Amino acid sequence: MNSVGGRLAAVRARVEAACRRAGRDPAGVALVAVSKTMSAATIREAYDAGQARFGENRVQEALEKIDALGPGPEWHLIGHLQRNKARHAVGRFALIHSIDDVDLARELDRRALRLGIVQKVLVQTNLAGEASKHGADAESALPLVEEVLRLDALDLQGLMIIPPPAASPDAARPWFRRLREVRDAAAARTGRELPELSMGMTDDFEAAVEEGATIVRVGRAIFGER
Ligand SMILES: *Cc1c(COP(=O)(O)O)cnc(C)c1O
Repeated sequence: MNSVGGRLAAVRARVEAACRRAGRDPAGVALVAVSKTMSAATIREAYDAGQARFGENRVQEALEKIDALGPGPEWHLIGHLQRNKARHAVGRFALIHSIDDVDLARELDRRALRLGIVQKVLVQTNLAGEASKHGADAESALPLVEEVLRLDALDLQGLMIIPPPAASPDAARPWFRRLREVRDAAAARTGRELPELSMGMTDDFEAAVEEGATIVRVGRAIFGER
């Protein structure tokens, strides 16, 4: 299938098949179509094909598309957010996946308070401790979760991970499992639910679903190579 609609249908079918293998309800997995670098017209095509959620990794690029598309789509910020851009992001995204340090969390909280809103967020983890990646490492994930839970204008929904580059989906699987374990431990420790696990991309989203992903972030399988 060469159309965006056809590729979307294929990705949805693969998510559903992974859910069946894992005994999960497909309604429990949200597909975020990662539309970074794609034009507003291409995103509109996906929206018209029934795709409601889109992920962008740069605030400025996202805001232009949000304004171009108008009401309807739900937008997710999946890329690193600089503290000095927090004020532009707050309130514009249904979910910000990339809370990676306390100072960013406090700044977002302050900006959300000022707007009188509550911003839904995820804590981004970097459980492998890769120097090239943002996110809380294995030791700092729980303290960051505890800190974010103390902020009244942020609503912490769960955790996100971009695992280390892997030769196969099965090589990424242990990181998905670890994210779930870290979430379970943080939920037990804090008494909060933390329902969302944002994990899985084009090369490994089926393994992520089998390991409990509630949000998959898929770009190339939907829009083609960037
Ligand atoms: C680009 C990106 C994705 C999507 O990657 P694909 O390989 O195109 O599916 C998912 N998550 C994040 C954080 C990204 O930056």
